[in-house]
Amino acid sequence: NKFEDLGLSGPLLQGLEQAGYETPTPIQAQSIPEILDGNDVLGAAQTGTGKTAAFALPILQIMWEDDQERREPSNRRGGRPGRRPIRTLVLSPTRELSAQIEANFRIYGKKTRLRSTVIFGGVNQNPQVRELQSGVDTLVATPGRLLDLVSQGFVDLKDVEILVLDEADHMLDMGFLPDVKRILKLLPRDRQNLLFSATMPGPIRKLADEILVDPITIQI
Ligand code: AMP
Repeated sequence: NKFEDLGLSGPLLQGLEQAGYETPTPIQAQSIPEILDGNDVLGAAQTGTGKTAAFALPILQIMWEDDQERREPSNRRGGRPGRRPIRTLVLSPTRELSAQIEANFRIYGKKTRLRSTVIFGGVNQNPQVRELQSGVDTLVATPGRLLDLVSQGFVDLKDVEILVLDEADHMLDMGFLPDVKRILKLLPRDRQNLLFSATMPGPIRKLADEILVDPITIQI
């Protein structure tokens, strides 16, 4: 039961050392290999189980491996030099959770040269826009502010390869489902989807049915 055996390597293992994690939690042991294999995942898990690392670690590993193959992390897919497309989008219901998730991506990804940022409402958008314009691989966002910045032309979601919906039941409780559905329409159809929710009320089950393709279900 080691992180090495789950398929993580090099910089991600260094990142784990930095975080001080020695052994994967049950949700990490189950989900990391499935996500690395490219599967969609439906995770029934509460906060406190280590679920953030359960998705952040394999996502970072996938993007890092992709960059190793291309050997040109900052100039992919014919994009303008120095401009990185957003490859991973994480939607979360609150600014606190969003900030926490992004901080975790930073810690685990410290040795990968992958970049991330976080956007949420209730604060001036300008610093967030500047971060976005410097180019990020991972964007963690609350739905309202994301749609706001998309409509202003500051966020382009056309290269997103991995979507994470975290605490989906709380997004439902907070009335964010219509915004989430608007965002889904802006994403490429061909992508990997990960949905985490502590509870599975009807509308979330339905959303999961709509967006997940042959998902692996993980219950903690
Ligand atoms: P989460 O459920 O993602 O909110 O994580 C709960 C807490 O557990 C966070 O403080 C993490 O930093 C910590 N944590 C996650 N995975 C591990 C691990 N494998 N070993 C030790 N601590 C961990």
